[in-house]
Amino acid sequence: MHITLDWNQIDTVLLDMDGTLLDLHFDNFFWLEHMPLAYAQKHNISHAEAKSRLVNLFDLHRGTLNWYCLDYWTDALGMPIAELKKDITHKIGFRPHVQDFLTALRAAGKRTVIVTNAHRDSVDLKLQHTNLGQYVDRIISSHDYREPKESQVFWQHLLREEPFDKQRTLLLDDSLTVLESARLFGIAQLSSGLVKSQLWLRTTTPSTAPSWL
Ligand SMILES: [Mg+2]
Repeated sequence: MHITLDWNQIDTVLLDMDGTLLDLHFDNFFWLEHMPLAYAQKHNISHAEAKSRLVNLFDLHRGTLNWYCLDYWTDALGMPIAELKKDITHKIGFRPHVQDFLTALRAAGKRTVIVTNAHRDSVDLKLQHTNLGQYVDRIISSHDYREPKESQVFWQHLLREEPFDKQRTLLLDDSLTVLESARLFGIAQLSSGLVKSQLWLRTTTPSTAPSWL
């Protein structure tokens, strides 16, 4: 069952960063093109072979904190991941209408907290190349807690450190696995993203089957 969001019922908005507020062009290009090219040069193999090897390696860690951890990949691949990211920072950008949306949330007095699985180095790089930090009250990386958003431990830790009313909190996140994790924890209002220019949001309640699919 989809219902139209009632902003009067929401005090806190938890916001995913990559794929929700910022577009994925930078991340996709980095992991699928730029980094494999550097890997190919390092190992003197073709770009295609590098992509194939890395995709297999990435799949082993999907959904874990390692998957998001620049330190892990720097060590595992023997490559300066954070440095390589700086080559393509011109690709970092907002998704459409996001600044207007965040401005409206602030004007409405909502508390806005970014909750991201991105490593702090990635967060910092993105804040340097956008003014995203000016639009929100707080930014939390799951690396701070050593648990990804897919884990219930992340939400327990978040609630202790950034108290919120589960019934009056909205999570916007483009990861269905993360939305499911938040639903399990009891966050009442969930959405997979921002919709069109007015950003009317669709929500589900935790008592219903996941219906953001
Ligand atoms: Mg995301």
